[in-house]
Amino acid sequence: MKILVLNCGSSSIKFELFEMNMKGILSKGRVEKVGMKGSFMRLQKKSGELVKFEGEILDHKIGVEYILGVIISEKHGAISSLNEIDAVGHRYVHGGEYFKESVIIDNKNIKYLENNIELAPLHNPANLKGIIAMQTLLPKVPQIAVFDTAFHQTMPIKSYIYGIPYSLYKKHKIRRYGFHGTSHRYVYQKACERLKQNPEEKKIITCHLGNGASIAAIKYGKSYDTSMGFTPVEGLIMGTRTGDLDIGVVTYIMKKEEIGRATVGTLINKFSGLLGITGVSSDVREIEEKAKKGKKRAILGLDMFAYRVKKYIGAYTAAMGGVDIVVFTGGIGENSSLIRKKICEEMEFFGIKFDDKKNEVRGKEQIITAEDSKTIVIVVPTNEELVIAQDTEIIVKKLSKLVKNK
Ligand code: AMP
Repeated sequence: MKILVLNCGSSSIKFELFEMNMKGILSKGRVEKVGMKGSFMRLQKKSGELVKFEGEILDHKIGVEYILGVIISEKHGAISSLNEIDAVGHRYVHGGEYFKESVIIDNKNIKYLENNIELAPLHNPANLKGIIAMQTLLPKVPQIAVFDTAFHQTMPIKSYIYGIPYSLYKKHKIRRYGFHGTSHRYVYQKACERLKQNPEEKKIITCHLGNGASIAAIKYGKSYDTSMGFTPVEGLIMGTRTGDLDIGVVTYIMKKEEIGRATVGTLINKFSGLLGITGVSSDVREIEEKAKKGKKRAILGLDMFAYRVKKYIGAYTAAMGGVDIVVFTGGIGENSSLIRKKICEEMEFFGIKFDDKKNEVRGKEQIITAEDSKTIVIVVPTNEELVIAQDTEIIVKKLSKLVKNK
């Protein structure tokens, strides 16, 4: 079965074409600067060869058309006809309370997707544009939506209700939803596979540390709590987002700086976090470089980032009544031995016996605690696209069984 996975951002479109039977990727790439000057597409062919195409990509529909054109092209294509595509899996950021798992996009579900736009105004509109473009271009091919929020729909109510009037939850659906669900789901399952453990008996903490970062408490195979909330700004300190912050600070800044809702929104989402603290960059590689040279605020940024993760690990361990496995993933979690060490140091009392040597790992699955560590810490590279492809395959196979049995 060939499945095309699409991840549409506001100005970019990522894609991967999977051959599920062969467990391989036939083609992948991304369109950048959609609707801007200088738009282009980068393609990585099955052979590993990289190709760059320049062109005017005015909107998402043109971008999607471009992708389809390239993957069937004689010179750079991976398949000979669009008829070979069995299904398309779409990343959809916010599924609200309605979508608790991945779904086929039919007339009913698309209405609910449209209704959720307001919950993630930065992400959902682009996701929806990709879906509509694909429906127009490949009308006979099943389209599946896979949500970042769905995995966290198992959280108990005490984890997701905020300390605001309950009527506001009822009226506006303001509650914790959590994000990065496909990543948390993938890495906790992978960790259990590797460690030959039954997830239904384990208490696991997954740390997705990328430019956006979140942490999840997974108790007996279900999301129990997570650090991102109604929006992705809550929780850990991120590349450019504040993470947890006294709300009083926001209203105070608005007053003192005489700025409005939109500007303060940009401030907490785009100019805060590591970028705001260090004054260097939002990129941990660059911050680590400056920290090595002794730049104080770069050192402070890394310390604050790690300290916040450490505190959450403590909180979630208490919340679940223990922790068996801690998983690191995301660009920082997979690659930065420095950050992982800062998070795990002085945690022996916690059952974490860290192994500095094993921790010298980058981008590959590896246990980084000693053999006799009570709590196991493991690095697992994430693969959200694969989860989307797998969910899509499962749903399409179920549907074709239903059709056959009719
Ligand atoms: P992501 O959003 O998951 O792609 O992660 C991006 C983050 O991972 C950025 O802050 C990068 O600096 C960080 N990152 C990627 N590679 C490394 C590395 N080798 N060492 C430290 N941080 C890294």
